[in-house]
Amino acid sequence: MACPRPASGSTRPSAIVPLTLMGLAPTRPEYKQPSSVLMGRVGARPTPTDEIQVDKLITIRHSIPIRQEYSKRRYIHNMTSNDIHTVLAQHPRGLVFDIDGTLSPLAPTPDEARLYPGVAELLEQARQHAHVAIITGRGLADGARMVNVDGLTYIGTHGLEWSDGLPALHPVQLIPEALPYAEPGQYLLDYAEKELAALPGLIVQRKSVGGTLHYRLAPDPEQARERIFAVMEEPARQVNMRLREGKRAVEVLAPLTVNKGHALRRFVARYKLRGILFAGDDRTDLDAVLEIERLRNEGLAALSVVVQYNDTLPELLEHADIKVQHVEGMVELLHKIVDEL
Ligand SMILES: [Mg+2]
Repeated sequence: MACPRPASGSTRPSAIVPLTLMGLAPTRPEYKQPSSVLMGRVGARPTPTDEIQVDKLITIRHSIPIRQEYSKRRYIHNMTSNDIHTVLAQHPRGLVFDIDGTLSPLAPTPDEARLYPGVAELLEQARQHAHVAIITGRGLADGARMVNVDGLTYIGTHGLEWSDGLPALHPVQLIPEALPYAEPGQYLLDYAEKELAALPGLIVQRKSVGGTLHYRLAPDPEQARERIFAVMEEPARQVNMRLREGKRAVEVLAPLTVNKGHALRRFVARYKLRGILFAGDDRTDLDAVLEIERLRNEGLAALSVVVQYNDTLPELLEHADIKVQHVEGMVELLHKIVDEL
């Protein structure tokens, strides 16, 4: 059950901001249905890269063959329900979400980020009908504090930490291969705090293993980025840790081939899922989006959702099955998902 939280009002996005006001245009302003498809001509199929604008906030890439005559309206309706319906019709089924930029609007600092209003209630409803996991780059305790719904699987630090439920109520497990890197990670973050103390706007976020150096608030972000790499690269190499770029952030990571894709696969195996949907927005989500493709090739009903911003990694968009615009689009889709469960 959801832990007590302030009343959040309506669970629907209060205002759908037109894309033009967001400074974003949909990938295709309007889906141009080929006349041959509208006529239901034999062999007239959209290519796998075709996209359908379902509404202002949601775009679907599809690969479902056209078998009969469809009007554009009916066709779009079928595509929407069919893709998601196929995943949600499986048992057991799973829903996996990133947090920042996916369920919570990006904030100037990690501590200021909050779930979009109504999301916790939607997750609470979803978990009663599906296995729900949160996979975040944040430390597990930090991510779980933000979401604060018991009964979900929390997976922190890109897959290194796991907890079945809120960590205040359930044990947290560090995967065994990560244990040797807890101390070097600690050392590097101490080093960053000391050596980069003069860098304005830097925020050091600690995790069980490693952490993240956020420079979103730096007056000159590009200069801050260069400075962080200049100071951290050699010490990281010396203690066999690695640095990776995030969104206006540099992550200090263990040199493990553990990522959100591995975590997603482990979650699928753990519950023997037959249907899985993953949603994320940032470059560390690409591993999970690619894993969705692999799982689909292995016969699972699997769908990826990418939350699109004006600086979204092109490769993420290329592999997305569904694109939604900003957290508002994700919440709209989450409503549709929960309605179908
Ligand atoms: Mg994110």
